[in-house]
Amino acid sequence: MSNASLSPILKQATPVVVDHAAGSWIHGTDGRDYLDFTTGIGVTSTGHCHPDVVAAAREQCGKIIHAQYTTVMHQPLLELTDKLGDVVPAGLDSVFYANSGSEAVEAALRLARMATGRQYIVTVQGGFHGRTVAAASLTTAGTKFSAGFGPLMPGVATTAFPGALRLGMSEDDAVDYALKEFDYLLATRIDPKELAGVVIEPFLGDGGYAAVPQRYLAGLRERTERHGALLVLDEVQAGCGRTGKFWGHQHTEGLTPDVLITAKGIASGFPISAIAAPRAVMEKAWPGSQGGTYGGNAVAAAAGVATLGVIEREGLVENARVRGEELLAALRAELSGVGESAQIAEIRGTGLMIGIEFGDPSANAGTPDSAEGARLAAAVQKACIDEDLLTLTCGPTGNVVRIIPPLVVTAEEVRTGAERFGRAVRRVVEA
Ligand code: PMP
Repeated sequence: MSNASLSPILKQATPVVVDHAAGSWIHGTDGRDYLDFTTGIGVTSTGHCHPDVVAAAREQCGKIIHAQYTTVMHQPLLELTDKLGDVVPAGLDSVFYANSGSEAVEAALRLARMATGRQYIVTVQGGFHGRTVAAASLTTAGTKFSAGFGPLMPGVATTAFPGALRLGMSEDDAVDYALKEFDYLLATRIDPKELAGVVIEPFLGDGGYAAVPQRYLAGLRERTERHGALLVLDEVQAGCGRTGKFWGHQHTEGLTPDVLITAKGIASGFPISAIAAPRAVMEKAWPGSQGGTYGGNAVAAAAGVATLGVIEREGLVENARVRGEELLAALRAELSGVGESAQIAEIRGTGLMIGIEFGDPSANAGTPDSAEGARLAAAVQKACIDEDLLTLTCGPTGNVVRIIPPLVVTAEEVRTGAERFGRAVRRVVEA
């Protein structure tokens, strides 16, 4: 018998052991076929094992696997940079590569401080930016991500999130309130002359699958610009087509970040991440502050090139928009008759980033303090598995079920998924 096993504190959301997977489907060693609406937490954008991605990675494995890009350059990274140039916002023409979202967040954080010569970073309640210590210091999607190993990195402050449901306000009022709180933070705690940047996801991911109101993002853009600070957008989960636009922030007209962070969906499952910024900003990073053994790995970069090619050729951004609308409508129809005991507070989504929040739906009693909401979400996520549908929960108390299909999901799979979800909710309510 082996004397090693996985860490006992790791939690697995499903009992599934994968035998193989293709497109939207995971085939378990238990002989069951699961419709995968988790995509490895928003990673397998082109579906599992897209033939073009598999072919590109296979071919690259036979050429060079690890070139180490600060030792020798390799072609996939040059190609990926070239291809990223077609999709990153105008002006963000300089790219640095790492392996994970957290590492890219840290690179953006270092850059913001070095480029401005200032120390303070402001993040927004409910944001998730990673698990490394600095990234965890920016993360407020739940205390479990930062409790127990403090002190966290200093120089970080958190500002209010304009969450209309939780605040019990209209969206307009919530945005006014949150922008006022931001200004108040700069009047009471952080002198704007010391503000390096604001780091925010354009759509809250792990913090609850909720859109950040566009007027709030625009308000932060105006304020960061006015104060000479950088707006850093964490597009790790919302980027690469997930919301029906290539980047989540493109739903806000005219918005351009100073630094954009991407990972997850960019290479369909191979670990690679990147930050993009104007060359003039990137040049201000101190020599030696960017690098790493594995960053921009050749096989991952080749998979990234293939992924961007598939997204473009197969029109996957548009597919995400259309299938997302269908899925949202189908879920609403499925759940319209389940009754009040299901405590569905909100069914929301943009593109294929869809959240079903559980909790007392009456005004101002939403979440995150609804224990019943968290119980229901967990029960529904489990019942989905019995229906051969894989989903995840999220939100500070786990009271949101998140649905993250691959961008290749078909109309039929959307219908199947919504039906299975509806059956899962009814199972829980009727239990
Ligand atoms: N930022 C966002 C928005 C994320 O969703 C995540 C991962 N869930 C991260 C950063 C961290 O990425 P990683 O797990 O690859 O370090």
